[in-house]
This record gives sequence, C-alpha cells and structure tokens, in this order.
Amino acid sequence: MNHDEVATTFTTLFGRPPAGVWVAPGRINLIGEHTDYNGGFVLPFAIPQAACLAADVRADEVWRFHSEQTGETVEVDTLTPGAPGWQSYLAGVVWALRQEGHRVGGADFVLSSEVPLGAGLSSSAAIECAVMIALCDLYALDLDLLQRAQLCQVAENQYVGAPTGLMDQAASTLCTAGHALFLDCRSCAVEQVPLDLATAGLEILVVDTRTPHAHVDGEYVARRAACTRACEILGVPLLRDVTDLDAALALLPELEGRRVRHVVTENQRVLDTVAGLRRGDFDQVGRLMTASHASMRDDYEITVATVDLAVETMLASGALGARMTGGGFGGCVLALVRAGTADVVADAVRAAFADAGFGAPVSFGARPSAGARRTS
Ligand code: ADP
Ligand code: MG
Repeated sequence: MNHDEVATTFTTLFGRPPAGVWVAPGRINLIGEHTDYNGGFVLPFAIPQAACLAADVRADEVWRFHSEQTGETVEVDTLTPGAPGWQSYLAGVVWALRQEGHRVGGADFVLSSEVPLGAGLSSSAAIECAVMIALCDLYALDLDLLQRAQLCQVAENQYVGAPTGLMDQAASTLCTAGHALFLDCRSCAVEQVPLDLATAGLEILVVDTRTPHAHVDGEYVARRAACTRACEILGVPLLRDVTDLDAALALLPELEGRRVRHVVTENQRVLDTVAGLRRGDFDQVGRLMTASHASMRDDYEITVATVDLAVETMLASGALGARMTGGGFGGCVLALVRAGTADVVADAVRAAFADAGFGAPVSFGARPSAGARRTS
C-alpha cells in the first residue's frame, strides 16, 4: 500500500483527509549482533521497505489506530503500560512522549507497512518511528533524532514490555541513503559510514528463511542474563568494558566465557568492518560477516539449521560473506554478492532448502536507504 492509498483509507475511515503522510523504514544489521545491550557497536542500514503512516490530530485524548496488515481499527483512550495487542507499539510512543513531559494530544492513524512482521527486519521499530515522526510534526515537538529513537525504545521496553536495545529505532530514525549507521550503544555517538555497493560492483542479497520463531523471547532473556552474570564476575558495568579477553575467559565458567567471547570479538568485527568500508576493502568486510556468523553459531548459539544452511549455500555459490542478521533463531540472512549474481545465489538457497525439506525462503535485494521522513 503506497502513500496515496493510506491517505485514501484514512479519509474513508475517519471522514477527513490526513494532515500528512510519513514513512519510517525497517533495517538490516550489517554486523554487530547482541552487542547493543552490552554497550557495544552496531552497524545497521535502513532498507527500502518501510511503514507508511497517514495521521491527523484530534481535539480529545483518544488515539485511533488502523493497520492494513491486521485489518483492525482500534481505539485507545487510556495509556496503560503492558496493554496487549499490536497497537501498544504505537500507543507506547504517545505514552513515552507524555512521560517526558511533551504535550501530545489525541490523533488518528492509518498504518500500512512493507516490512515483514517478525522477520528480524524490525517491523516494530518502523511503526514506532513512523508514529514518532508524525507526532513530532503534528504537535511541533522539539526532539532531536537521537531523542526520538530513545523514546521509541522506551515505548518498546516499558510499554510493550520487549527488552530490546537502541539499534532498531536508531536505524529507522537516523539512517541516510547510501550509508550504514555506526552506532556506539554506550555513548550513543553515531557516524554515517558510506556503503557504496554499486561502485564496488556488489549487491546485498537478503534471504528471509521464514523460520517460525520458537522460544525466542526466553532465549533472548537467557543471553542477556548470561551477559549480566559475566559482568558481575568480571566486575565491569558492561561487556563493552572487557579489554583483555583472555584474562576474562580465565575467570568465567565455560558457558559465560563463550557468550563473552562472542560479544567482545563481535565488537571488534564491527570496528574492523567500519575500517574496511572506509578503505573500500569489501573482501575483508565479507570475511568479517562470515566470522560473525560462526561466532553467533558456535559461541552465542543463536542460529538454527535453516539460517546455517542459507549461509553455507550462499558462501558456496560465490558470496564474499554471509551471516544471519537480527536477534536469531530464524529470521533473515544477508550476503555480500557480486552484482548480477544475486539470482544465482538465491536460487541455490531455494534449491538447498527444498532438498533439506525446509519451507521456501523469500529473497530480495537491499540497498541502504533513507531513514524516517515526511512524504506529504
Ligand atoms: P520485528 O521487529 O523483527 O519485525 P517484533 O516481534 O519486534 O519483530 O515486532 C513485530 C510486532 O510488531 C508484530 O507482532 C506486531 O505486533 C507489530 N507490528 C509490526 N508491523 C505491524 C503492522 N504493520 N501492523 C500491526 N502491527 C505491526
Ligand atoms: Mg522488533
């Protein structure tokens, strides 16, 4: 559904045209997985697929949300953290803004998103950041882009109740076309790093493995808990602060040691990837991506058979590098491939999935795109 269509649906549903239409994209993390909540580094870029939102203010304290994907229109008149339903991702943004003292009144919204739900491309941040930018414009709120992302994270953490880091919201809000966003999750410093694939004769291929996420929430909580235990043992506030990995490993039990090794080496891989991109050394970037996957598979234990098969097949069919992206236990795999070879690589993954008896994956190309913006 495009911009004109959300505006038309808005007019039909709510009896007046919207005041504007805004979009906020999903994201792919090039590298830096499970580093955000450890105060580390991430390197996401925004994808062309975005949430599109038509909106207008209301004179009362009511928020009406329509989603084209759920087909539902719901009305919220009391903002209660922990309230169930998809609308909490949106109402939570209103709540987070009001918690900070921003004057936000009622509003009507029509949402339609191209970001697949629950595939690790951050459909949740896309819809939060779309509501955030719309409310900032409609109510003339004075928040910089980082503050917007941080309050969307507050919405997801405290209102929805999902314990996620800042990466997704920062990417959706702050990314710029042709760049990856280098984010230091401890200082919140950001840098736009050129990701000029076309000039290098390269493309990024994404394969959504369509693996049903099982036990994801419990596993995520368990990984975070292991990191917290390791920090206690090591006497550091965050795993970001571990400077001597070997010394740390000598102090930690086997399981915590492997979790820490992933986080510490992954942070270094993000730094090395940023340096590689600046040098235009995409062979090195590819190797770092593949090393990141191995670390997620062996040390952090967050991959599953479908994503491992996708990565192996992509590498065997010529990719410079490939890795799972997102929290894990399914979701998407991305590969750096030579321009013109994406179809061959995607076909190879499809064939390998069929041979293994896995359901058909969905592939698409991803180019680094713009962050949240008003379109009309
Ligand atoms: P991801 O962000 O990786 O896609 P999450 O589990 O964080 O996965 O967020 C997915 C949830 O976000 C959905 O279950 C739904 O509640 C909400 N959501 C995302 N996009 C939409 C949409 N277009 N309409 C309604 N709800 C949506
Ligand atoms: Mg999400």
